[in-house]
Amino acid sequence: MEKYVPDMYRKNIYSIDYDKLQEQGVKCLLFDLDNTLISYSGKEVEENVKALIENLKAKFNVIIFSNSPKIRLNNFKNEFDVECVACARKPFRKNFDRVLSKYKYSENEVAIIGDQLYTDILGGNRVGIMTILVSPITDVYPFWTRVGRINEKRIVNKLKKHGLFFEGRYYEEKM
Ligand SMILES: [Mg+2]
Repeated sequence: MEKYVPDMYRKNIYSIDYDKLQEQGVKCLLFDLDNTLISYSGKEVEENVKALIENLKAKFNVIIFSNSPKIRLNNFKNEFDVECVACARKPFRKNFDRVLSKYKYSENEVAIIGDQLYTDILGGNRVGIMTILVSPITDVYPFWTRVGRINEKRIVNKLKKHGLFFEGRYYEEKM
């Protein structure tokens, strides 16, 4: 079950201490897109998200790492002007490994930030990079993620039973 437990759990992308990550040697941030940076229904990027990414680009190699198809990511690629990995197939490790070998990063130099245990956190933990969970922006998910959401609920309940993770109880380090 530990493979579903994030290293860090924060309310949203703004409540992460990025300076501390930098001090810890993190050089690359992989951001999930849907419900982490923007809501599923959203096509426009909020100004404060843009400002945050712009800020982070000065300190980190920022990459959008999403399971969504290229056609959805193209808008955001232009908007944020960062590298985008579409169809990342999280939680499979292949595309995580690709980023690591492309930039010759070691595992502790890369962090993934996302809202789902079953994709973002499981994938990141499999590879051994830092995993940061944030609460989803909205409760609205498209129908094709319904199976994933059921899995997610099941995992959360199981972790709760084992005292490993509690939804809404935010922490900076692994509990
Ligand atoms: Mg997401």
